[in-house]
Amino acid sequence: NTFAEIDLGEALNLNIMRCKYVKPTPVQRHAIPISLAGRDLMACAQTGSGKTAAFCFPIISGILRGQPVQRPPRGVRTVYPLALVLSPTRELSMQIHEEARKFAYQTGVKVVVAYGGAPINHQLRDLEKGVDILVATPGRLVDLLERARVSLQMIRYLALDEADRMLDMGFEPQIRKIVEQMDMPPPGVRQTMLFSATFPKEIQRLASDFLSRYIFLAV
Ligand code: AMP
Repeated sequence: NTFAEIDLGEALNLNIMRCKYVKPTPVQRHAIPISLAGRDLMACAQTGSGKTAAFCFPIISGILRGQPVQRPPRGVRTVYPLALVLSPTRELSMQIHEEARKFAYQTGVKVVVAYGGAPINHQLRDLEKGVDILVATPGRLVDLLERARVSLQMIRYLALDEADRMLDMGFEPQIRKIVEQMDMPPPGVRQTMLFSATFPKEIQRLASDFLSRYIFLAV
């Protein structure tokens, strides 16, 4: 019933304490063990339910615990994040980035954010310093992929936050384009978490296209 009882690893547990989180929220209590067990997840969760931590904790824990990955040597330009968090807006992306950085504090896990409606140059400079977890809006990420500044070949964790809002905003083509790039050979083991406040047909279709044998969670 406390985070200390969940096996997230020492470094992450320390940061959770620093954030003064003691008890998991309902979505965290259910989603975190499912993700730690390696299962794909579709969760119905509202804003304010604590879903940011619900997807960040398993990602950070998994990266810290995972086999050291052989990433292609970082070229002058292309970077290879291990985790991608897609979010509909600049504001939400900034919030996720801020929280994820606190959770990843002093772990060596690098979190970078890239959103549209802002000059790209600063974001490119941040990316060049290296990135493990990329938080991005779909349009800006497509731009970065087209410029070959980001490759999704090494993505092991994908989180789609507020998926219904992303579809309402017309991002489905971009999202599909993004996920297609993760399915390019060599086939990696990707774990996917989809969060949405509502579960209409379009979201069900995304879930069945992007997730495999997923667990459905409604809290
Ligand atoms: P979110 O739904 O992820 O935007 O989180 C909503 C707010 O709740 C944020 O300010 C979080 O920092 C906070 N929060 C999330 N999980 C917990 C928790 N287990 N204990 C205390 N605060 C939390």
